[in-house]
Amino acid sequence: MKNLTDIADETAKTFCGHFDVAIVGGGFGGTTAAMLLARKGFRVALIDVHAVYPTDFRAEKIAGDQISLLRKNDLLETLVSGATPVGTILNTRKGRVVDLAEVEEYGLLYEDMIASLRGALPPSVAFMVGRVSDLRPERDVQHVRLSDGRELSARLIVLATGLGDVLRRKLGIERNMVRDAHSLAFGFNIEHGHDQAFEFSGMSAYGEDAAHRVDYLSVFPIGNVLRANLFAYRDIRDPWVQEMKKNPREAIYSVLPGARRFLGDFTVTSKIDMRVNDLMQTEHFLQDGVVLIGDAFRTSCPAVGTGLSRLLTDVDILCNIYIPDWLSTPGMDRLKLAAYYEDEAKIACDERAADAAEYRRASTIGRGVRWEAHRGQHYLRRQMRNWIRQLSPRKRAA
Ligand SMILES: Cc1cc2nc3c(=O)[nH]c(=O)nc-3n(C[C@H](O)[C@H](O)[C@H](O)COP(=O)(O)OP(=O)(O)OC[C@H]3O[C@@H](n4cnc5c(N)ncnc54)[C@H](O)[C@@H]3O)c2cc1C
Repeated sequence: MKNLTDIADETAKTFCGHFDVAIVGGGFGGTTAAMLLARKGFRVALIDVHAVYPTDFRAEKIAGDQISLLRKNDLLETLVSGATPVGTILNTRKGRVVDLAEVEEYGLLYEDMIASLRGALPPSVAFMVGRVSDLRPERDVQHVRLSDGRELSARLIVLATGLGDVLRRKLGIERNMVRDAHSLAFGFNIEHGHDQAFEFSGMSAYGEDAAHRVDYLSVFPIGNVLRANLFAYRDIRDPWVQEMKKNPREAIYSVLPGARRFLGDFTVTSKIDMRVNDLMQTEHFLQDGVVLIGDAFRTSCPAVGTGLSRLLTDVDILCNIYIPDWLSTPGMDRLKLAAYYEDEAKIACDERAADAAEYRRASTIGRGVRWEAHRGQHYLRRQMRNWIRQLSPRKRAA
């Protein structure tokens, strides 16, 4: 039988300490949140199943408002130090140039994004490798238990577990399907079929016919590899999807024949990664002592590239405004935490992402005169803007 000293020893070994914030999930959301909070001097525990984030087909580009959010929070340089800048993108449709966009974007595999971020975590962050098996949130102190028996406590839990559902369900937080299998994403490496290299950093080929249900193919550099992402609104049992795996070039040219002019007889030089993307949102998320960020709160469609924008907005407002405020007063009840979910910037960003996902799908697969006219006008407007830009004196002088 164990005596009291043995029991006390075991408890000391399994109790890992008390923190201001325990972040469960060390993907993009959890790691950036840990970084911002630790820089502000808070005691942070970051817990993830994997010591090194495994190979995973997720976001492979940093773009748009993500750049300004990262820059604002002094995260951009860390993140893109190993990334490949994308400066110009040739946008095409039906074998014609729509426009040549000058952009600030960066190509980088998801696992490398997380490695860069984790590598820059301040030493004060207690990074623990293990699976969190149980959470016991209360109004003041939250308890976190790992499956190997370790335990810790914190004033607040940030749940950043992405698509993982176990902990959310244990807390009574339900996931509501907005649309099952909303889109399909494919990722693969290519070598293009023309002799000379691309003269632009990236290219996109947009869907040519609503019947094909293909949104766009995007080709961009990651290191010295040309990476391709293709987004479609198809059923996974669709024969074309099987063809994409067996004979990707012909499958792509059967739906994007105009892309041949720009990519020639390209070859696929890697396996084809494929993801089915469900649009989900959570219910009953307002709980004592725990807040949700990123995909744990809501998922987005990869075709519109808003997952990281939403996640960075969550992290930005949570770590810069709400958590410092919450920790400065006693208690951590749900009434206090409601302010984060009611934040105008968060709501607007989540709604923008949801609207964009619906719009892209509808405007890609919409049939009939109205949608045909809409697509025609959209690309014509972009082409005209591009011509005007090219004719402008500043551009001609350059
Ligand atoms: C194919 C694809 C392409 C995409 N492309 C884009 C794009 O171009 N642009 C864009 O903005 N977004 C894109 N996204 C969306 C973006 O990748 C996600 O929104 C983002 O990665 C979510 O990050 P997260 O931190 O919420 O979750 P994750 O990065 O999934 O992190 C969750 C972490 O939680 C850990 N975890 C889970 N359960 C536990 C547990 N019980 N205990 C401990 N740890 C746990 C996991 O190990 C993991 O590390 C894409 C998504 C997909 C699928």
